[in-house]
Amino acid sequence: MATEQTCILVDAGFSFREIRQRLRQAGEDFARVDAVLITHEHSDHVSGLPMLARKFRRPIYLTPLTEARLDWGEARPVVERFQAGQRISIGDFEIDPFTIPHDAVDPVAFCFHAEGLKLGVVTDLGYMPASVKHHISGCHLLVLESNHDLDMLKVGPYPWFVKQRVMSRVGHLSNHAVAEYLSAEYDGHSEILVLAHLSEQNNHPAIARMTAAEALRDAGAGGTRLVLAEQHRPTEVFQF
Ligand SMILES: [Zn+2]
Ligand SMILES: [Zn+2]
Repeated sequence: MATEQTCILVDAGFSFREIRQRLRQAGEDFARVDAVLITHEHSDHVSGLPMLARKFRRPIYLTPLTEARLDWGEARPVVERFQAGQRISIGDFEIDPFTIPHDAVDPVAFCFHAEGLKLGVVTDLGYMPASVKHHISGCHLLVLESNHDLDMLKVGPYPWFVKQRVMSRVGHLSNHAVAEYLSAEYDGHSEILVLAHLSEQNNHPAIARMTAAEALRDAGAGGTRLVLAEQHRPTEVFQF
């Protein structure tokens, strides 16, 4: 996310080349990135990090426990350590990292505050604890995981122990869990809700969209526009 002055990247799960290209497609330049924030050490979030860190002379923010799990290779990155619950200031942004239930060593999600707006980026969580719901209330834009359809996961190709992991309290958020949150507790405040981290094996964009749209309708949240993030192409750029 970016203001005129400050540009922040969350995670580095694509190759460095792909990250640069996607930034360009979004009208940004890697040279303008002020900081990279890391949520957790799973490879879909950090696989491009060692290469990125070789080219990046600005800080990479992560928790000490997550840092201990990373292999930087040849890189000698500038590291800034934070703890969940401790506010971070980077340029125009005030950022609140908070703990999420996921099977990584110290996983976090973030809410960003800048220019009177609040943006939340929340993926990789097994369920929605009250603390997470509290943190994401009042977001103008919310990126929320809608990882799998439970029925598709159960009959899908994953081995049973992986299915159990995904479904567990430290796995990933299902379409159904998202719908439960939206229909019962969502404040209707977001202009844009981006469903993200959809499984290619165990979900279908149409199912994720329909489930969330129904829940928004039940909640009377007609002001929230629903967008689906896809893995193989960049999501549109949202401007406020
Ligand atoms: Zn993960
Ligand atoms: Zn992930």
